[in-house]
Amino acid sequence: MPYDTQPPASHFIDGAYVEDTAGTPIDVIYPATGEKIATVHAATPAIVEQAIAAARRAQAAWAAMTGTERGRILRRAADMMRARNHDLSVLETYDTGKPYQETSVADATSGADALEYFGGMAATLTGEHIQLGEDWVYTRREPLGVCVGIGAWNYPTQIACWKGAPALACGNSMIFKPSETTPLSALKVAEILHEAGLPAGLYNVVQGMGEVGAALIEDPRVDKVSLTGSVPTGRKVYAAAAAGIKHVTMELGGKSPLIVFEDADIENAVSGAILGNFYSSGQVCSNGTRVFVHTAIKEKFLNRLATRLANAVIGDPMDPETSFGPMVSERQMNIALDYVAKGKAEGARLVYGGSRVDRDGFYMEPTVFADVTDDMTIAREEIFGPVMAVLDFTDEEDVMTRANDTEFGLAAGVFTRDLTRAHRVAARFEAGTCYINTYNDAPVEAPFGGSKNSGVGRENSKAAINHYTQLKSVYVRMGDLEAPF
Ligand code: NAD
Repeated sequence: MPYDTQPPASHFIDGAYVEDTAGTPIDVIYPATGEKIATVHAATPAIVEQAIAAARRAQAAWAAMTGTERGRILRRAADMMRARNHDLSVLETYDTGKPYQETSVADATSGADALEYFGGMAATLTGEHIQLGEDWVYTRREPLGVCVGIGAWNYPTQIACWKGAPALACGNSMIFKPSETTPLSALKVAEILHEAGLPAGLYNVVQGMGEVGAALIEDPRVDKVSLTGSVPTGRKVYAAAAAGIKHVTMELGGKSPLIVFEDADIENAVSGAILGNFYSSGQVCSNGTRVFVHTAIKEKFLNRLATRLANAVIGDPMDPETSFGPMVSERQMNIALDYVAKGKAEGARLVYGGSRVDRDGFYMEPTVFADVTDDMTIAREEIFGPVMAVLDFTDEEDVMTRANDTEFGLAAGVFTRDLTRAHRVAARFEAGTCYINTYNDAPVEAPFGGSKNSGVGRENSKAAINHYTQLKSVYVRMGDLEAPF
């Protein structure tokens, strides 16, 4: 291993690395080879206690600082992340298997954007003044307290920053539990924040499986949980948070529609379908995996798609030429391959890929099914792998009903040259994020999140501030106060 992927210790608490080898060992596997590249230990109850106590202790003094002071630290951390982008991207590639071609432009850079954006916003956070005749009310925008962040394995650095940056900007402390599949990058985020001047105890990282996340949420000293994960996990985490009436942000799964009308620019539509199905080997929550293609252009679309998929460079993720890497784990690859088998068994037409790639690691081919119908399993369930389902349509009204006929509501896209149709369709999509003639953009300036079962709350943008603060109303009486007796 040319890079040292073993962290100094499993957890980062109160400004320092902390170990407790009594915790269950978690092996970190490089998905491109199947080799073990590090071992960390799941947090024991003692580690969880240490993290919560540190986060609780540090938060009040942080909240008492000015927004400008807090923001300066976050912006310094953003600069440091950009300066270290190469090393952070290499680590992210080892942790997730995603090609360096992607991690070098989409992970630490996206994390840095969040730190810079919310760092800049910290000084602008205010309450308001509400005049009531002679009397008045003012609101104070206050932090929630201790926030817990729980991450998925597809964008570990980004998720650690998308949750940490707004939480810290608003004066909260954070305890972040990365996915047990990808535990490495969040530790680097913690290191960088502290090198940038973040006081100890404000950004803590603890490792572990679901039980560690559950133990954090159940603790009465925790005020908020932000989860990125699947719908079933979301249900459990939301219920646990509800027991303590805690604030939540839920960034969950999807099965998003992408509608390609007959007047679409075919090359752009194929690009959108590729970005929305095969980036990160299909392991993106907002992917447009149900691609509804107008029958008038169906064969042309499928032909161009197949031609362009043949240009995918499948190989060593560290090679900058590689554009399609392995799946994150053997388990996730097998889940996706099982869906391929179901697609075939239920009568979908396999038009591209469908098999494991004959090399070490957890590679499967980019896969396209055509003639998929709405009731097939591959059209209903989130696969979270490189499996695209192409469905036919002819009528706008009909395709809108079918596109929205899902429990999920994370994202949706439309390709058309008809301006009014594009906006009409976007307005009718039941989804938190819609794309017109593009797919899967997620800049920090815009709100990101789901409707229906895909989630609650929004990350990024000014909207995130409402999910990391609460308003206190203060009533001020200028004159005498009357009472009935
Ligand atoms: P997952 O639901 O299995 O796990 C997510 C996290 O929750 C992990 O850290 C896990 O340890 C933790 N967890 C599991 N059970 C828990 C419990 N009972 N209490 C507390 N924490 C618990 O998801 P995954 O397989 O890591 O990630 C893939 C899923 O994440 C997909 O469904 C994908 O769509 C979704 N996702 C959503 C977004 C988004 O922004 N909406 C982004 C990325 C991934």
